[in-house]
Parts: sequence; C-alpha cells; structure tokens
Amino acid sequence: MNNKSIFNISNLASVLKGRIPGQLVIQYTDFCNAECPQCGMRKTENYQRFKISKEEIVKILDAAARQNIQSISFTGGEPFIFVEELVSMIKYASHKKIPFIRTGTNGFMFADWESADYEYKINKLAEELSETNLRNLWISIDSADPKTHEEMRGLPGVIKGIEKALPIFHKHGIYPAANLGINRNIAGFGKIPIYVTDKNGFYQSFRDAFELFYNHVIDLGFTMVNACYPMSINEDEKAEIIAVYGASSLSKVVSFNAEEKIQIFKALMNTIPMYRSEIRIFTPLSSLYSLINQYCGNSDDTMPCRGGIDFFFINAGTGSTYPCGYRGNENMGKFYDIDIDKISDKPFCKACDWECFRDPSEMAGFLIEAVKHPIKSLLLKAPIYKELWKEDLKYYKECNFFDGRRKK
Ligand code: SF4
Ligand code: SF4
Repeated sequence: MNNKSIFNISNLASVLKGRIPGQLVIQYTDFCNAECPQCGMRKTENYQRFKISKEEIVKILDAAARQNIQSISFTGGEPFIFVEELVSMIKYASHKKIPFIRTGTNGFMFADWESADYEYKINKLAEELSETNLRNLWISIDSADPKTHEEMRGLPGVIKGIEKALPIFHKHGIYPAANLGINRNIAGFGKIPIYVTDKNGFYQSFRDAFELFYNHVIDLGFTMVNACYPMSINEDEKAEIIAVYGASSLSKVVSFNAEEKIQIFKALMNTIPMYRSEIRIFTPLSSLYSLINQYCGNSDDTMPCRGGIDFFFINAGTGSTYPCGYRGNENMGKFYDIDIDKISDKPFCKACDWECFRDPSEMAGFLIEAVKHPIKSLLLKAPIYKELWKEDLKYYKECNFFDGRRKK
C-alpha cells in the first residue's frame, strides 16, 4: 500500500460526498490470557467468553469488501490464542483485497524466549503472516520498565522475547508497532501518583514518562509506535458510554479526570516532535490539540467521531455491529445486513477518546470540511490547528501511512 492507493479516485469521491473509506474493528474473540488491570477482559474476570465463527467472519468480510471498507482490525481479547483461525481470516481478508488489515497481540507467545524452539516458532509465525497482506501488527507495551509491564500483563519474560522476536519479524518484512495504552505506570510502578495535587508536576511526570517510553521501544527495536488514550469511564461519562468492548476499566491506573487528561495530552503533544524522526509515531498532533481543546471546554473545535457512519465495531459476544465499542445501546444488527451507503446520519459523537476512531475522524474530518466548505473551515479553525494538521499529513505521507511492511 502506498500513498497513491490511499489518494485514489474512489476515496476522493467518497470525501466529496462527505464520507471516508470505511473502517471495521472486529472483536474476533473476548478470550484472553493476560491480567491487565486496565481491562475488563482480563482472564481473572469471570464471564462467558465468545469467539465469532469462521463462517460468520467470511460473511462479514464479503460484505466489508463489497462496501468499500478499507481497514479491518482483528482484535480481542487476545486473537493469537486462536492463531490458525486468525491467520486464515487475515488470508481471506487479503483475498478480498482489503488494503489495510491489522491485528495485535499482548505478546504472550514471546514469553518462552529461552526455549530451544523459540526462534523456529517465531520464524514460522512471521513467515505465515508475511504470506498474507497483513499491513500492521501491534504488540502492547504498557511501561518503559520491563518488570512493570510484565507484572501488569501477568506475562513474565515477554519483553526479552519481544526484543529477540523483532529482528525475526523484520527479516520477514513485518515491522510491528509498539502499542501503548496510556496509564500511570508508564515509567514504572508508582512513578505517577494516583491522587494528583500538583498540575505542573503531573505534566512533567508524563513528559518524562513518554520520553522514557519512546526510548525504551526504540531500544527494543520497534520502528513504529502508537498511543491509546485513556479509556477509563468516569462518573461524568457513564451516562453516554455503555461499553460493549471490554477494553475499559474503572482502575485508578487508567482513570484520569479532565484536568489530568489535558496535562497528559499536552505532555504527549510536546514529546512526539522530538521522536518523529527516530520512530514512526501514529498519534497525530492535530488530534491531541483538539482533545486538549475539548477538555478545556471548547468542544466545538474538535471533529466529531465517524463511529456509526464510516467506522463500525463488531462485538464477539453478540456478533452484532455497533457504532463503536462504547455505544453499546445502539445495536445496528449484523454487519452484512447494513447498507453503509444509505447511512445518512451526520457525525456528532465526542463521548470518548478511543484513538482508533477519534484520530482518523479528526484527520479525515477536517479534510472533508476543507473540501466541502473551504472558506468556512479555513476561517473558523485556529491557525495553529491548521499548521498541525498540515504537519501531520506531511508526516503521514513521509511514513507511507504507517506501512508496517516497510522499515520506514
Ligand atoms: S488489554 Fe488486551 S491483553 Fe490485556 S486483558 Fe485486555 S484484552 Fe487481554
Ligand atoms: S467518540 Fe467515537 S468511539 Fe467514542 S463513543 Fe463516540 S462514536 Fe464511539
């Protein structure tokens, strides 16, 4: 996939109609083998688990290809627990010519890095994946401190294993991304206090933590990194958000109030430019700028999310489609029964910071506004926002839109 295939005629025609190429997140399973405190799907949670059948996935992927869905993510739970089925689904999505196919892992398969057949096993996995059109593989990393990460996940040894596995993946032309879920343990257990009284100190703690984190993943051998914004559900957000995606938690490790979020987003925004030339960083600065504005009370400035319009989520439990993983009271039915072209609703939602949907909504939302209402959008948006957006777009192009099959 290159820049040319993103800026093709069909995609530009969609933009002119106020739509963008679709994204579908398929929660293939909610089975998991990790213990992350930031997640309701950890293995210690006692509830009935599900996995979507292969036949159902085929029907979903057929419909996705028919309806110009360009990006498919197979998520979990931990999708690699069912690795054979996962690879066969990725192969099927490749066969349907879906250009952006993504999946990720908590890295459990890297824990036994000292075993005699470790290299053989990782080579085999990397080779299998390299034979598909998988574009991005993410590996979760929660902390710059290996011990903290491994204890949080309940997966001892994974960091050494990841370090050993990355060159093997690279040899097969797969460049995994480190995926950080922002939390209070980024710099190590207890480094960022739970109860914060000093705003500037809190900002600086995160600023230092993000630097440590980026240095850590560069040292491990990653060439790409992403940050998932905190998905805690606070008291004041509860009314709007009903999660069908269990990747949220009330744990203090990932719970932040609005003022804390402002400081976190500022810290991330000020750290990213230092590292953009060293590692490809998905997180757009324009999105962080907008989120800061939103939490400062200027939510009119941010682009609404395209969940339920161009982006969709399929839940492992019900097999149904939702606007996203967090509007669980809006069951849209089976994906293959939905005619995406007929959706006439306008984007409106800003109820959460799910980066999978918010970041592309911000980037593409402004593009649509600029194409459809050039004078209004250019006059209304702050000059700094427009500069950041242009800078992001230039960077995205330089990074080949984060092509995980290229080194750079
Ligand atoms: S964050 Fe991922 S790996 Fe951790 S418990 Fe949740 S689904 Fe499992
Ligand atoms: S902002 Fe997007 S991801 Fe969040 S609740 Fe709204 S539609 Fe869902």
